[in-house]
Amino acid sequence: MNVALAAVLAAPGLAVGSFLNVVVARLPLRRPLSKPRSACMSCGTELRWYDNLPLVSYAILRGRCRACGAGIPLRYPIVEAVTAVLVVACGLRFGLTADALVAAFFCAVLVVISAIDLERRIIPNRIVLPATAIVLVAQTLLHPGVEWLLAALAAALFLFLPLLVYPAGMGMGDVKLALLLGAMLGRDVAIALMLGLIAGTAPAIVLFIRHGSAARKKAIPFGPFLAVGGVTALFVGEAILDWYLGLRG
Ligand SMILES: [Zn+2]
Repeated sequence: MNVALAAVLAAPGLAVGSFLNVVVARLPLRRPLSKPRSACMSCGTELRWYDNLPLVSYAILRGRCRACGAGIPLRYPIVEAVTAVLVVACGLRFGLTADALVAAFFCAVLVVISAIDLERRIIPNRIVLPATAIVLVAQTLLHPGVEWLLAALAAALFLFLPLLVYPAGMGMGDVKLALLLGAMLGRDVAIALMLGLIAGTAPAIVLFIRHGSAARKKAIPFGPFLAVGGVTALFVGEAILDWYLGLRG
């Protein structure tokens, strides 16, 4: 592993993660991303720069606002850490290339979508649709062909058909998220969907066994599972596919 490259990419990764937290907090509320400055959600005190450092400030403040003592959601350090790890992983996996940049953008979008879906049970069109368009254009320019468009449409169709049969399970947001996964991953999107479905239906089945039909009301957001499947396919999709095809001889 290239330790120097990882160390160099960690700082911008943390900075991007910090910005993603702003997106997660403000975009669903239709508040502007650029202003005002970040403030405590409880007392409204504006954050000084030293209270707004990724990970560090959360640790120093022990997860509490300096002014009013209100708890800072654990989502902040988690989003910062996960984003930094993913940005570093994109650099290590794809080198300092345009592919790495597109992959990092894809990962950042998945982090935002997962956090918003967990908090609000929605996947905003204003994120997933423009992101899909950007990724589709980028992939088609970098690797000319129709694979990206076809995979996007096939993945969305794959999730849309069960939606017609069992509408309680997933939402149209998940179908649009599948578009994004297909545009980025091409044929590897099959792996992302398979992993996402396995990971996402297991807890749903457990809930159903425990609570019967009442489990429907405890609906688990599906977006984060698709996102984890998408990230896994991005980094090790080829390896999984080779292993699987090898099994079949
Ligand atoms: Zn406060």
